[in-house]
Amino acid sequence: MSSPYPGQTPNHGGGVGPGYAAGPPSGDARRLPPTSVFPSSAPGQQQSYPAQQSYPAQQSYPAQQSYPAQQSYPAGGGDLTPQLIETDIWSDQLVAAAGIPVIDVPFLTIGGGIGSFVTVDYLRIAGVPTESIRILSNIDTPWQTYEYLTRVSQIPRPERIRSDSASRPDNIWGFPSYAVEEAMKDKSLKALWQVLVEPMFADFYTPRAGMVFENLEREAKRIRWWDMLVKGQVRMVRRRHGGGYYTILTPPDGAAQTKRIAYRSQYVHVGIGYPGLKFLPELQEFRTKHQDFHHVVNAYEDHEHVYTFLKSRPGTVLVRGGGIVASRVLQRLMDDREKFGLQTQIVHLFRTYVRGPHGKNAWLRRPGSNGFAYQGFNYPKSVWGGQLKARMRKLEGAERAQAYKDMGGTNTPWRRRWQAQMNAGRQGNWYHTLEGTAEAVNLGPDGRTLSRVKLGNGQITDIPADFIIDCTGLEADVREHRLLADLMDHSGVGRNPVGRLDVERTFELRGTANGEGRIYASGSPTLGGYFPGVDTFLGLQVAAQEIADDLARRGFCKRIGPGRSVSQWLKWARNQQI
Ligand SMILES: Cc1cc2nc3c(=O)[nH]c(=O)nc-3n(C[C@H](O)[C@H](O)[C@H](O)COP(=O)(O)OP(=O)(O)OC[C@H]3O[C@@H](n4cnc5c(N)ncnc54)[C@H](O)[C@@H]3O)c2cc1C
Repeated sequence: MSSPYPGQTPNHGGGVGPGYAAGPPSGDARRLPPTSVFPSSAPGQQQSYPAQQSYPAQQSYPAQQSYPAQQSYPAGGGDLTPQLIETDIWSDQLVAAAGIPVIDVPFLTIGGGIGSFVTVDYLRIAGVPTESIRILSNIDTPWQTYEYLTRVSQIPRPERIRSDSASRPDNIWGFPSYAVEEAMKDKSLKALWQVLVEPMFADFYTPRAGMVFENLEREAKRIRWWDMLVKGQVRMVRRRHGGGYYTILTPPDGAAQTKRIAYRSQYVHVGIGYPGLKFLPELQEFRTKHQDFHHVVNAYEDHEHVYTFLKSRPGTVLVRGGGIVASRVLQRLMDDREKFGLQTQIVHLFRTYVRGPHGKNAWLRRPGSNGFAYQGFNYPKSVWGGQLKARMRKLEGAERAQAYKDMGGTNTPWRRRWQAQMNAGRQGNWYHTLEGTAEAVNLGPDGRTLSRVKLGNGQITDIPADFIIDCTGLEADVREHRLLADLMDHSGVGRNPVGRLDVERTFELRGTANGEGRIYASGSPTLGGYFPGVDTFLGLQVAAQEIADDLARRGFCKRIGPGRSVSQWLKWARNQQI
């Protein structure tokens, strides 16, 4: 699939996470270039961090495998035909002629991650029975991709995530808060005290990842997630003659009698998460040229071998990026240095080096220092409900794009521990920061990576490093995902002012209405819409609420008014299955 945007990972289906097989090799399968002097990680040394794994290992969950046992169409091989692929709007006869079995369900969500979860949670609470919902997904649990991405980017279960109790994806009411829950579980007032004195005398309180996952599991069981889950890869969604949509699912090998299954539905929700992993162009070029997925890694892929290697001998790591993932990676490198007495040298390259408070005007300012821009949460808090939210809802076109630019920019929370570690690194001369642009990455004569960097003062320098960790992002273009590209090519989906999928204020994908049928979308592919924080738990919940309200207006579910809200919260509090 071609893309006008350079530097993306060659994953033809698009998507990020454990649901995909097309990622780079992991562990021992990573190929070392012939010139390399580095040993691959010793098997016995794998996974020695973190020690405190007090959370249960992930169980396996049975998906609801309702593939038709017998396909009843006389003709066709049960696969997509050239005619289907070329036709924008499908008739029932066209699908039948291809021999693809059809399953009717009023509502389906594609993805099965956090965005799908919160949407289904709202609908179940709004009284929609499990028979009316199907979740088409390539993962087993709604938190699987999120857990994968947080774990590899150095937020294992015992560590704390970035967002607070403004949103609990397992609890649409957000009450009681994570801090109250933690205080009760730990029988300690520490979390409550932190909430009381934050952020002046303590960092912002945020929950441990493990607690978030445990709560998601509890709520998933309560709403009977696995009764609605159907495993497989969604290939495309097309409009149907007469209204509604066909969604084509490719079930796992051998799970069904035909290669494809069609779901015929009135409503579709697209919650496929990140369209793809994006690498900096020079890093992607290095990996492709040398077929080296070992020394140049993305923070969003498994790169435990880097930390394992550094325990075996001193080494230098070049960290790229200035966001929260760079902070996490630095913390891991620095924790290991302290814990195992390592001699790791860290070079941190910022493209934009922030020296102090910055911003367009007095109302749009962020603190900053030592390269980083600081912000507690992913977005200014006012996007969730204040004036900024109201203003954004009215902006169109270039004005909206400019507003996103003004509030955007890479940032990380200011945390006491990180500041102390970086100060120690600067004093000890083992943490070095640079401002500059990397122009190329090559293999040096000693087999190490050599980054050619144009520094802020115009000087060109070569930086040798044993490993480069790219912490710059998950920002692949929406067309990188095959399903989204298909929606753009065949179903009238366009781009919003910042280049992602154009959604209405109700999160309906603009241009896709078909009779009474509607397609909704939420999450990262819709960033740039009327509501800014879409790729966060709270943003996903706001989208889910808008979608549930829209579906209530259309008569698909009940409105969650005060009476239903109270009675459903009581059920939630008692963990009563619905
Ligand atoms: C490292 C990291 C930390 C984050 N921390 C926070 C935080 O602290 N607080 C916060 O509010 N937000 C956070 N976010 C942002 C966001 O809330 C999460 O990424 C969240 O998981 C997004 O949910 P989603 O449903 O959009 O995507 P996902 O949870 O990734 O789910 C999408 C799923 O769709 C599946 N899929 C894609 N294509 C197909 C297909 N064709 N067929 C079938 N399945 C498909 C994918 O495999 C994936 O599992 C973080 C993000 C990252 C990357």
